Amino acid sequence: MSEQKIVIATANQHKLGEIKAILADLPVEILSLADFPQIPPIEETGSSFEENALLKARTVFRETKIITLADDSGLEVDALKGRPGIYSARYAGEGHDYAANNRKLLQEMAGLPPENRGAQFRCVVAIVAPQGETVVEGIVRGRIIEELRGSGGFGYDPLFVPEGYELTYAQLGEEVKNRISHRARAFQKAKQLLRERFLPRNHDA
Ligand code: IMP
Repeated sequence: MSEQKIVIATANQHKLGEIKAILADLPVEILSLADFPQIPPIEETGSSFEENALLKARTVFRETKIITLADDSGLEVDALKGRPGIYSARYAGEGHDYAANNRKLLQEMAGLPPENRGAQFRCVVAIVAPQGETVVEGIVRGRIIEELRGSGGFGYDPLFVPEGYELTYAQLGEEVKNRISHRARAFQKAKQLLRERFLPRNHDA
């Protein structure tokens, strides 16, 4: 039996690991950009998470003709009017330097009292398939603490404490993060849609 395939349009191994864990119970083989070295890096030129996610998913679907899921995600800080937002990865400059991004965030928020340190992670997932395309979103509210805590995860994880918790994403561990995160919420919705609309039904099941 040939297994159904989907492509996750990311080259970020951390994100891919999280997404594979979230989609683990889906009966599909999960490919990523690493399996398609001929596809050049896709510039995120959109002006919203949604535009960027669609841009990536459409490009990869055009090249592969395989159902493609692409996410765009980032941190939106209330006191910074939603920044860094779509610029989360390159907040302190090009190069995905997580430590520099975290330093910059702490500097920009220096002196803000706890009640003004609200923030949210947002993840938008675009699905592009032969049947059409759609977009879903996951949001987790929380706050930015004043020093780095924890060594798990990636990016802003050591600075973000999700609502209802006392530990950062980086301290909570993979298993918990993959259950509660913005990415988990968005990909759970995507998984539901894949089952309902995009994957062929297994009538023997
Ligand atoms: P993307 O790869 O274009 O979606 O950029 C996402 C950027 O947002 C990452 O490089 C991180 O800076 C930040 N980000 C998104 N999701 C997370 C997360 O789960 N933890 C920490 N940082 C995240």
